[in-house]
Amino acid sequence: MIHFVGAGPGAEDLITLRGAAFLEEADCVIYAGSLVNPGLLKRTKEGCAIYNSATMTLEEVLDVMKEQEELGHTTVRLHTGDASMYGAIREQMDVLDEWGIDYDDTPGVSSVFGASAALNAEFTLPGISQTLILTRMAGRTPVPEKESLDKLAQHGTSMAIFLSTGLLTEVSEALCKGAFTEDSPAAIVYKATWPEEKVMHCTVGTLAETAEREGIKSTAMIFVGDFLTGTPERSKLYDPTFTTAFREASKEETK
Ligand code: SAH
Repeated sequence: MIHFVGAGPGAEDLITLRGAAFLEEADCVIYAGSLVNPGLLKRTKEGCAIYNSATMTLEEVLDVMKEQEELGHTTVRLHTGDASMYGAIREQMDVLDEWGIDYDDTPGVSSVFGASAALNAEFTLPGISQTLILTRMAGRTPVPEKESLDKLAQHGTSMAIFLSTGLLTEVSEALCKGAFTEDSPAAIVYKATWPEEKVMHCTVGTLAETAEREGIKSTAMIFVGDFLTGTPERSKLYDPTFTTAFREASKEETK
């Protein structure tokens, strides 16, 4: 059995209870060493075989899974954040399906939410934005043309941009071709939830210079949108004049 597990964004106590239990009982752990906190490996039992996938190919990862399976062992494949975002899990699962090896997937706290918590941010402020776009700038991995950053930016929603810290000049240009301007609010969160976390508020026009000044080259989440600075309308959910499935309106609407 293979358990794909989301390790969370970095802090050792931000893995789920289920993910932690799988780690504790695993005979083998293959972890994404470029971003997963190695401190999580303290949870493994004695004798657990540990592989760092940062130095392995897909074929090597799959060979380890197959070997462990043949021994009747349980393997945890530990991915950073939540494995459904840029986790490259599907290519592993497709081969496991072919080989008839069982697996399941345990969600994790994505770095997008580790980073939004570091900002005390709410992406979905009433009257400002009710949508969050999770995306990346095209790099060595291309992005389909219909999802290019300038096209997505036309909506002016809250946006979280992964994997793009080395391309911030291009990110700013693309955002300004959409609904944003150089003065639109932006933020960079470096290594959210790690001890070395850094939160930087800036604007769309100053993303690249902010990262350069702070020496940030990778492992950062880029945010853009009015959710960072705007003043929201109050929510309907907790409005005394609003009836919900759980609560009758307690006051007459005055407006
Ligand atoms: N599956 C992961 C994302 C993997 S892609 C998740 O859900 O978080 C790797 C990118 O995620 C990095 O380039 C960076 O943009 C972002 N990232 C990962 N960990 C981060 C962290 N602790 N703080 C900020 N960004 C992070």
